[in-house]
Amino acid sequence: MDGTALPETRSTCPYCGVGCGVLLRPDGQGGLDVRGDPDHPSNFGRLCSKGAALGETVGLGERLLTPKVGGKTAQWDDALQNVADRFRDTIATHGPDSVALYVSGQLLTEDYYVANKLMKGFIGSANIDTNSRLCMASSVAGHKRAFGTDTVPGTYEDIDAADLVVLVGSNLAWCHPVLYQRLLAARKARGTRIVVIDPRRTASCDGADMHLALDPGADVALFNRLLVALDDAGATDPDYLRHTTGLAEALAAARADAAAPTGLPEAQIAAFCDLFARTERVVTLYSQGVNQSTRGVDKVNAILNCHLATGRIGRPGMGPLSATGQPNAMGGREVGGLANMLACHLDLEHADHRAAVREFWQAPALPDAAGLKAVDMFRAVGDGRIRALWIIHTNPAVSLPEADAVRDAIAGCPFTVVSDITARTDTARLADVLLPAAAWAEKDGTVTNSDRTISRQRRVLDAPGEARADWDILAEVGRRMGHARAFDYSSPAEIFREYATLSGVAGQFGRDFDISGLADLTDAGYATLAPCRWPVTQTRQGGRFFAEGGFFHPDGKARLIPVTWAPPAARTGPRFPFRLNTGRVRDQWHTMTRTGLSPRLSAHLAEPFLDIHPADAARLGLAPSDLARVTAPTGGAILRARITDAVQPGQVFAPMHWTGETAPSARTCALIPAACDPMSGQPESKAAVVAVSRF
Ligand code: SF4
Repeated sequence: MDGTALPETRSTCPYCGVGCGVLLRPDGQGGLDVRGDPDHPSNFGRLCSKGAALGETVGLGERLLTPKVGGKTAQWDDALQNVADRFRDTIATHGPDSVALYVSGQLLTEDYYVANKLMKGFIGSANIDTNSRLCMASSVAGHKRAFGTDTVPGTYEDIDAADLVVLVGSNLAWCHPVLYQRLLAARKARGTRIVVIDPRRTASCDGADMHLALDPGADVALFNRLLVALDDAGATDPDYLRHTTGLAEALAAARADAAAPTGLPEAQIAAFCDLFARTERVVTLYSQGVNQSTRGVDKVNAILNCHLATGRIGRPGMGPLSATGQPNAMGGREVGGLANMLACHLDLEHADHRAAVREFWQAPALPDAAGLKAVDMFRAVGDGRIRALWIIHTNPAVSLPEADAVRDAIAGCPFTVVSDITARTDTARLADVLLPAAAWAEKDGTVTNSDRTISRQRRVLDAPGEARADWDILAEVGRRMGHARAFDYSSPAEIFREYATLSGVAGQFGRDFDISGLADLTDAGYATLAPCRWPVTQTRQGGRFFAEGGFFHPDGKARLIPVTWAPPAARTGPRFPFRLNTGRVRDQWHTMTRTGLSPRLSAHLAEPFLDIHPADAARLGLAPSDLARVTAPTGGAILRARITDAVQPGQVFAPMHWTGETAPSARTCALIPAACDPMSGQPESKAAVVAVSRF
């Protein structure tokens, strides 16, 4: 080093769906200095603890550096040919639906695009799903029911401009901290009121005006009460309702639901409804507490009903906003990387949509029906219907519900490929072929955050050993499976241009997702691409949707959906008397592959735990820091008891980060039943039933 500082490079944080911009400066010794990008529209320089510690998480420590076949180091050529041959042979013998890809919201859009094209266009199966199924599938289905497309109507600027922000099933302070900081700044500037709706008292309640500690799963009942109250108060908007249908039916269902239990005092419900009715600028921001439910789609639509009925959508400071968990959950939705979607918000079930994509890709076949969603996919692995499986950047042996059964299913699969940056995951240990992938800061591509802003991730470090970018690995397998021309990519910029061109085809079908204005980006233009919110066409960039209607159903109108309350699928009883809620902690991310490398982050909450109410702890003889045995119908765990009235009597909470690698007795997802929303396929990760005893 000559003492001259290397220049900073703009990139995007790889963790949550806020999508904060970062400035990266290699330290010349393999490390990185990281600071918030003051010019990025998502964070304006702010970072949370995880983003600020990114520099501590790069390095060679845990990395997978070479391909491995059967546990032995292999050449790339042999490993890739092995994957291509086994997939081709399995398809030839058992058909295209005997293979599957299970991918991740950690993938960049270009990686996702190639994976989806390979599976749907050239293997001819829709068996590609993603861990985003665990995150926001219910929002997707709710958006499509109400709007006709999976459209996020608003933007982060609405948080700045709202007079009331309702957080539903969201611990924004810990899970999307920079958005929470933005909300607190708005509160300071304009006195924004904050209501938190969550069974648990979380850090997000600290700055709230009201905390509604509703019963787990009671969201539909509460928002039905709100819809009725808005109607009774004359707060619906007749002018806006011209753009909708279904108010009468939705109101009838809501009125019939009036006796559904919420667990809340009537006075508190009335105060919340009154505040909502009196405040024009309302944002309802919701997250996994809504989505991760067997009634997740109905919960989403119960929220959307209230915004549509009052016209509080698409205007500054108004609208529903789904906070996605992962950096590119939105990008995955956009490329169609879920089993029930086609690319660019086109629909798998529409023959004309399929024909257009097939012609664009020059693909031999496109499936005409949805593939297996995540939970069903691993059931099919377990019962032998899926015989070749490729898992990319995710750890389903830990993170899916009934995780012990999922682990056993993967172990029994005839052929499993895992692409990841490390071999030290519960899933990677089960792989027949391990492929070393480039990590964040070692690869180029784009991600889309929760408010439709597309940002670049940029390569500033060399990938270690023989690690390669995911798009490159996937394209190489596509070529070796006989599709040389379709996967003849030489750069992520080339893939992005193809994707942007395809979105123009989708635009011709009147779909919302259109970035055809970026289809002619040069390599240099892609290299310097600034954050931009879609749509990006010749005539429009970004903005909000639906202020003047313009929905994507054939009649151009939104649908208010009649919904009624139902309890969570698993019922408490004498054997399993506690309701288990699961979620994130402030300083860890997913299964800790990256954040677990930072001592600073690990110091926040160093071990897995179980939050339990003092009355329950006393009855069970549990003292602070005792070990608690937690038993569910599907598995067990041993967790450190934390006695706190942040959880209600009869309820317990456990974080989901620890794995068989980091805490073998604390695989929380083994406690969660594989009960899913029938429309979205999203599992109910926040309402398991368990027994608790002193260990
Ligand atoms: Fe990264 Fe999310 Fe934190 Fe922003 S809020 S720095 S995107 S983890």
